[in-house]
Amino acid sequence: MAIVISGKELATIRRNKMKEEVIEFAKKYSRLPHLVVILVGDNPASVSYVTGKGKACEEIGIKNTTIKKPENITEKELLEIIDELNNDSTVDGILVQLPLPKHINPDLVINSITPAKDVDGFHPFNVASLYLKQPGIVSCTPKGIIEVLDFANIQIEGKHAVVIGRSNIVGMPVSKLLLDRNATVTICHSRTKNLAEITKTADIIIAAVGKAKFVKADMVRDGAVVIDVGVNRDETTGKLCGDVDFKDVEPKASYITKVPGGIGPMTITCLMENTLECYLKHMEE
Ligand code: NAP
Repeated sequence: MAIVISGKELATIRRNKMKEEVIEFAKKYSRLPHLVVILVGDNPASVSYVTGKGKACEEIGIKNTTIKKPENITEKELLEIIDELNNDSTVDGILVQLPLPKHINPDLVINSITPAKDVDGFHPFNVASLYLKQPGIVSCTPKGIIEVLDFANIQIEGKHAVVIGRSNIVGMPVSKLLLDRNATVTICHSRTKNLAEITKTADIIIAAVGKAKFVKADMVRDGAVVIDVGVNRDETTGKLCGDVDFKDVEPKASYITKVPGGIGPMTITCLMENTLECYLKHMEE
């Protein structure tokens, strides 16, 4: 039987702490931290993510503005909005909900956000800072994964961590964070041969594949720590599920996260932490 690490529990602890900090900061700086979220179109998943971010802000006491724009907004119009927000001294964080409609280049949009307000940590400046070990904003999901491992007191140093997935938003940055914590990291992807042979050598598996119940028991060695980043729909039940087949893998793992209630709540919590970080830097300038 594995110990289930609750990202939800950790998120509650972190959010309660932030709630108290925001009250103190607001007294000191005479204004609340302010996060602006831009939502283009009405993709249901995006609407739900944006709603979740708004609720988290409300819970913690962070001011939240959501700018909703129709699907047919031009790239130029969107860039103008971001430019205004970059220059608005009452705004601490800017987040553009992805994906964007096909006629808008997401790289151009992300690159237009001033790095000091890039709460998602997606701007090349912040990405480079992570790789160069310089101060910058670390993207939320990878940061949340490390916080979850620390919460469960899992030793990272010297361990073999196998990351399945090499995306810019999860696989690559979490691999770098694990490396910085002195893990030996193997990054796997869709062209990896003998994946199960590799994952079976892992002390820590990070599954960021985007395929429902992809990681099975025969891919995991006894006592491994299994972190499930995936957010998928189970084709038969229609319910939310991860990249790990929880029922199959849980008996073999020592620690495991669940979907929902694992990494998801920590991603939003880290977004709030990043917003506070941007605000504090902004106030201390
Ligand atoms: P992504 O951009 O689609 O990347 C998926 C990665 O998995 C790619 O690197 C891909 O390899 C690899 N892959 C695909 N099939 C594979 C296979 N058969 N064997 C080994 N590797 C394979 O996805 P993502 O954005 O990283 O997200 C991954 C999952 O995490 C998704 O379910 C997403 O919804 C979820 N997610 C959750 C949160 C959260 O807050 N909980 C945040 C972000 C993402 P190639 O590079 O070779 O194509």
